[in-house]
Amino acid sequence: MQMMKPSMKHEGESAVLVVDDTPDRLDLMIMQLRKAGYHVLAAHDGREALELAQREHPLVVISDVMMPNIDGIELCRRLRADSELQTTPVLLVSAMRVGDASAIEGLEAGADDYLEAPYDGMRLIAKVTRLTERARFDAAIRESEERYALAARGANDGLWDWDLRTNEIYFSTRWKSMLGYEDGEIGACAEEWLKRVHTDDEEALKAEIQSHIDGGSAHFEMEHRMLHRDGSYRWMLSRGMVVRNSEGRAYRMAGSQTDITERKRAEERLLHDAFHDALTGLPNRALFMDRLSHAVERAKRHDDYSFAVIFLDLDRFKVVNDSLGHSIGDELLIEVGRRLEAGMRAGDTVARMGGDEFTILLEDIKDSDVAVRMAERIQQKLVLPASLSGHEVFTTASLGIALSTIGYQRPEDILRDSNIAMHRAKISGESRQQVFDTTMHSHAVALLKLETDLRKTVTEQEYRICYQPIVSLKTDRIAGFEALVRWQHPERGLVFPDEFIPVAEETGLIIHLDRWVLREAAAQMRKLHERYPARMPLTVSVNLSAKQFSRHDLIRQVEQILCDTGLDASNLKLEITENVLLINTDSVNRMLTQLKALGVELHLDDFGTGYSSLSYLHRFPIDALKIDRAFISRIGAGGDNSEIARAIVMLAHSLGMDVIAEGVETEEQLLTLKALGCEYGQGNLFSPPLDVSDLEMMLGADANGENNLLILRS
Ligand code: C2E
Ligand code: MG
Ligand code: MG
Repeated sequence: MQMMKPSMKHEGESAVLVVDDTPDRLDLMIMQLRKAGYHVLAAHDGREALELAQREHPLVVISDVMMPNIDGIELCRRLRADSELQTTPVLLVSAMRVGDASAIEGLEAGADDYLEAPYDGMRLIAKVTRLTERARFDAAIRESEERYALAARGANDGLWDWDLRTNEIYFSTRWKSMLGYEDGEIGACAEEWLKRVHTDDEEALKAEIQSHIDGGSAHFEMEHRMLHRDGSYRWMLSRGMVVRNSEGRAYRMAGSQTDITERKRAEERLLHDAFHDALTGLPNRALFMDRLSHAVERAKRHDDYSFAVIFLDLDRFKVVNDSLGHSIGDELLIEVGRRLEAGMRAGDTVARMGGDEFTILLEDIKDSDVAVRMAERIQQKLVLPASLSGHEVFTTASLGIALSTIGYQRPEDILRDSNIAMHRAKISGESRQQVFDTTMHSHAVALLKLETDLRKTVTEQEYRICYQPIVSLKTDRIAGFEALVRWQHPERGLVFPDEFIPVAEETGLIIHLDRWVLREAAAQMRKLHERYPARMPLTVSVNLSAKQFSRHDLIRQVEQILCDTGLDASNLKLEITENVLLINTDSVNRMLTQLKALGVELHLDDFGTGYSSLSYLHRFPIDALKIDRAFISRIGAGGDNSEIARAIVMLAHSLGMDVIAEGVETEEQLLTLKALGCEYGQGNLFSPPLDVSDLEMMLGADANGENNLLILRS
């Protein structure tokens, strides 16, 4: 049997040590033992024997009792006192009878057996064999115990051994320390274990143990929580196995306990991460779709249950990201997520779909008004400026609402429709919301096609520029034109910029497009100057997307175009939107200053629709404000609605800026604007945007520039 082999640390451990001061007796014994196959070490007195034993670690010591100095009994005592030799079996040999005083003394000193002399060789060998076998067995046990103890310590697991008959249970020191206790602080009954098991796990654990005891499982294994001394719960893996008697009845069960708290936490994190957005911590698309599909199913079963999906997309998020950097962009998304979540009812889900898109599932709503009111509340919350790493950032969002009352069969469909409605809201302007209706679907399909077409349009041949006169309200004469781009779509005909500019911005095509418009318009204006010198100086206003300001070659390009076309810089106005100011970085400010230095004027377009703070304005080298037509159209529309226009004119003048009114359509508006002291007007009242040929016809008919307004308004 493998276990019976002693370890071979020393040659002497498998040897037998014989001690006798009488040489004849010693020789005889050596001979008898060697014949029986033993390796023999010999000593002639007690001292020599002790030295040999300490050096060689014999398996058994056979000693004469009567010896000078250290006798057999004293040798026995000294061996027992030596920690390494205390278990080495000793056989005393003497003429004394067993039961004699010295024989008893010998046994008391720790001798294992006694051999009366004279003896016969067979008896000696029988006794030595028994003792060596026992020594080997003990060594094997010791070794296995050591190995077990080492393994238990090394595995870092706690161990338990449960006597099912007495219900007594042994817990290892490690088992206790895993729960924060010292060795003496936990008793030896099963209750010490069970009472610390989390109440939610207790029943299952007991059932698992019982099932194993009853033979229902090959081994017991369970993950459960255990109460630690510090009051927290730790996840443990408990494993064990029963020992059965010959009738198969379990009488003992032993096993281990492993702390798996870390692994459990990692699993929980993974699970959480799989369903949540890492940046905002909100549910992600997967979790949202899961909740949405439940809502769809529920609505199918219960007629009285309805829900809504709000799809939210931040306006101008790309501008923030491109200009202030991604970390501020990230902060803004976190802030938006926080604001959205703050206003929700308990059962609603706010999720981040990715990018600057968020979705909200409003469950169990009474009617569509609830969703619309919620959308309004969201708009109000988002409009407040966010202070992000020292920057004041303004944001708005476009919201699309889809209602379950349409009768959706699949969650993807209602999500798609809320997205379509959001795009609709976006087209109608920033910070708008729109409820989905079925006609939007066909429109969305058309829009998608447009986007695909635009991406395919690589040449400028499909673009055209129209020119809309800008009129001086002081002189009633044309002061210049705004260049407005159109897309001559091969199938759809003329497409207006509101439809394709957002797409061009998204795809990056705008950079190329804007520069093409600038070059064409500058060249065209230069041509008009040559042809109609009497109409000098006519200016041209060109729109520049905020995107241009992320390009460092913008200034060089403008300079190059002026140089190539020969247009005087003072005749060029660049129209920028508030988005550009919102970027508000040093680099943008530097670029604006450099443009000004070229001699170009800067006009702030669509003024009043953005959310840039008015207090910013003085920091930028802006020459004129263009009041958005939304404010002009209010003038004269029942009651006096000219306050905003009035305020903007006053503000501009106080900052030394001119004002251009956009979208002037009625005489009444014109009169009011004149009364307010507004410098310029642009709008259908004077002229819609004109083709180059119409423009030339107009200028040609009025070559000396005297009665242009008459022509325009006739
Ligand atoms: P915008 O710069 O504010 O241009 C004025 C818009 O108002 C033009 O629309 C013009 O046709 C329209 N408009 C002028 N007078 C009236 C009026 O009396 N009533 C009404 N209802 N509308 C009037 P359009 O041409 O559709 O351009 C829309 C926007 O597209 C422009 O607004 C501008 O922001 C952008 N855009 C146009 N061309 C370019 C371009 O080359 N580059 C860039 N980046 N954007 C452009
Ligand atoms: Mg403009
Ligand atoms: Mg405008």
